[in-house]
Amino acid sequence: MNEKLGHGSATDFLKYVEEVKTDSVNQVKEYDVIVVGAGTVGIPCAIKLHEEGKKVCIVQKENTPSCCGNFSAGIRLNNTKKSELAKVTHALIEENDYKPKAEVINIWRDYSEEALEWILQKSKEAGVQVEDLGTNPHKAFLEANDLDIEFITPFFGPKPYDIKAGLTAILKKAEEKGLEVFYNTPAVRLITDHDKVVGVTCKTLKEGRKKWTNFMGQVVLTTGDYQNDDQMVKHYLPQMEGFERKKKNRTGDGHKMIMDVGGCMEAIGHTKMVHDMDSGPFSVMNLPYLRVKLSGERFANEEVHMEYMNNYLLKEKGEYCEIFDSRFEETSEKLGQKVSTEELENFMPEVEGNKKGVKEDLIATYRADSLEELAEKLGIQNVETFKETVHTYNKWVEHEADDAFGVSKEKLTPIKKPPFYGVHRHVKLTMACSGVNVDGKSRVLDKEDKPIESLYAAGNLAGNFYGAHDYPLSIVGLNLGRNLTNGYQIALEILNK
Ligand SMILES: Cc1cc2nc3c(=O)[nH]c(=O)nc-3n(C[C@H](O)[C@H](O)[C@H](O)COP(=O)(O)OP(=O)(O)OC[C@H]3O[C@@H](n4cnc5c(N)ncnc54)[C@H](O)[C@@H]3O)c2cc1C
Repeated sequence: MNEKLGHGSATDFLKYVEEVKTDSVNQVKEYDVIVVGAGTVGIPCAIKLHEEGKKVCIVQKENTPSCCGNFSAGIRLNNTKKSELAKVTHALIEENDYKPKAEVINIWRDYSEEALEWILQKSKEAGVQVEDLGTNPHKAFLEANDLDIEFITPFFGPKPYDIKAGLTAILKKAEEKGLEVFYNTPAVRLITDHDKVVGVTCKTLKEGRKKWTNFMGQVVLTTGDYQNDDQMVKHYLPQMEGFERKKKNRTGDGHKMIMDVGGCMEAIGHTKMVHDMDSGPFSVMNLPYLRVKLSGERFANEEVHMEYMNNYLLKEKGEYCEIFDSRFEETSEKLGQKVSTEELENFMPEVEGNKKGVKEDLIATYRADSLEELAEKLGIQNVETFKETVHTYNKWVEHEADDAFGVSKEKLTPIKKPPFYGVHRHVKLTMACSGVNVDGKSRVLDKEDKPIESLYAAGNLAGNFYGAHDYPLSIVGLNLGRNLTNGYQIALEILNK
């Protein structure tokens, strides 16, 4: 077994760490800290270090900052008992199949209020579109775990506005104050002196010619996940092969650079985030309405949430439809999440008018007077199978027993009264959420669990925070909240050293 890879047999993706010949390096730049990646971790990390007087720069692969998302979450420590905090850590370990390290989860738990308050302050200065949604979005998590805590939940939006727009505005202010950001400058290889990291080599392309720069200093790697490296996906998330990817340029560069200097991947099956929150309203996403594949067949117990649907739809690459009828206002209320006509029409490409809070190229909710017409609009290929599925489903509703998949009788809703409605969902690989071994200070660990000096990793590049088969959606915005916090916390770590 190759220990660097965490598990399984060796692949050759490690070869893709670029060779750098000493005599091809065109220039050398000295900093206290080099932050690699201008995303949700890198930006707060560099800004915090810069405002505290460190000589810091960001090297960024793309020609702009790049990150995404709307919801971020953290825990308000002030009014929270220590025992409740311990229960939060336990709840997250439990829902991640007992694989995370408590000390890594506790970075988020213990620093998120301070970090997110700081981000809100920066947002105010930069005119960012953000509001704190507080504890409300997390009611289900609190109830499920019998917890009494308050949340801070910065929401960057509504869509199409998102964290990228927000952090870009905040970064611009910092650049005006002298923070240096080198765009189109991907990091390719860490520079070491014995066991210590002393810098990172980056590459720029100018007039078709490669230019190499050695940035010397401590290194914070925040290069995001590896969803765009097919070999890494095949090795760590083989079931995702062929699924569409939501991002570009996330080729696991940080993972490879770290493995090249003696770090290693966490030795677990990797966690994935495979979502579609854009084709229909948020409120419909997890209602237990009938779900069918594009073949027209039913395929799962509809009480299972959207974030797990990918597991049922490996061959179908994540495509399915939710079906309901004109009585949705009444049935959705009965199911505990009332949906309005206005909300639905906002996600219908066929309904004209100003759409609010959506990505217009991704909305896919339809209305039709017949099941045949609905099937056509949704792209369901076998209309007769679909009609038969609806017929059989209505029979389970009448009998108050779902003999096929076991949905509870109070969650079965008839599909009889036109017009009929459908949402065509397409879950795609949003993020790979597992990564390299780190400790509770975000230092990269070698295979003996010893920190590699002067090297930090954070965000989706860093492991030990998740571990379940799928990213649990219990705390809305946990990922973004964790990542923003992680950048801020590394800055504090470096400042307090
Ligand atoms: C559409 C979408 C919506 C989402 N919504 C939410 C949400 O609402 N809430 C939530 O919690 N999570 C959400 N997520 C997940 C969340 O956005 C990410 O998990 C998180 O932003 C990742 O943070 P990161 O800093 O680790 O990586 P990223 O934000 O991906 O940043 C990595 C950065 O590193 C740069 N980079 C890569 N390689 C190199 C290199 N070699 N050299 C220099 N720079 C490099 C990249 O260009 C990028 O800017 C969403 C994800 C997607 C795709």
